[in-house]
Amino acid sequence: MSEPARHFVQEGSTDLSAGFLTRELKPGVFLVSNGNYQTLFTTTGAGVVLLDAPPPLVEFLPAAIADVTEEKLHTIVYSHGHTDHIGGAHLLARDGVNIVAETSTARFLEEKSDPRRPAPTTIYDERTTLQVGSRRIELFRDGFHSADGDTVMYLPDDRVIVAIDLLAPGWVPLLDFDITENMFAYMRAFDKFLSYDFEFFLSGHTAEAARREDVEITRDYVMDVYHTVKRLHDEINFSELLAEHRESEQEGIKRIIEEVTRRATKELSDRWLDGPMKGVDLWTESHARQMVLYVRWTD
Ligand SMILES: [Zn+2]
Repeated sequence: MSEPARHFVQEGSTDLSAGFLTRELKPGVFLVSNGNYQTLFTTTGAGVVLLDAPPPLVEFLPAAIADVTEEKLHTIVYSHGHTDHIGGAHLLARDGVNIVAETSTARFLEEKSDPRRPAPTTIYDERTTLQVGSRRIELFRDGFHSADGDTVMYLPDDRVIVAIDLLAPGWVPLLDFDITENMFAYMRAFDKFLSYDFEFFLSGHTAEAARREDVEITRDYVMDVYHTVKRLHDEINFSELLAEHRESEQEGIKRIIEEVTRRATKELSDRWLDGPMKGVDLWTESHARQMVLYVRWTD
């Protein structure tokens, strides 16, 4: 047997000297990453099923696949409509490649009519199971990230679940909770996904596959932001603050947002800065502010 390709790494390795890495999480289930983006493909015996085609990764995907299997690309599943995860699909979608998306993502892509994001050939509603060769792939709709729908992928026999842009293992979520468009659905998603039986959790970012502990610690952080902001918001004396700005109520509202954000950022940073996740100094202020808007107007 020839030497394994340089990008093919064992668990725990983040050797990116080939520009990307491929790791076999379960037999025939592969994670591919360039360090910042990650995605998953799986062999089936009848062709490869790939989730998404992030532009920074797409140039590596044909080699990553060809190095582990003779199978051709059979299906691309879109996790959601954002270009940073599916904007490379046009480079892989040839005649005969099936593209799967859920209804609202499909509607969004139809309206966008973007040649980088070819229209799905199979559209599902709420929930579906793809049986491709020997592989059982469950897909279901959520709305934790994109207002135009998120598809969560679950491989029950392999105990792998994929929910793109929920978290990044080892990091607090990116800006504004990974720019979620629905804070309520975002907070609810953690326990919902934790109720599935899984060993690996892929979220689209970093070279690591998250484990249950990563999902739990991110949930605990997010809920700490929620409870902290809610308490501080309840403590503020609004009539006093608004009275200081009698000429402009809008200025008073701006002050409330700024004041709760400032106090919450301070408290949360004290608790999490030396904690298990990086990025508190970068993103916690944005989380506090995003949560103030949610607590004041939606909660
Ligand atoms: Zn996204």
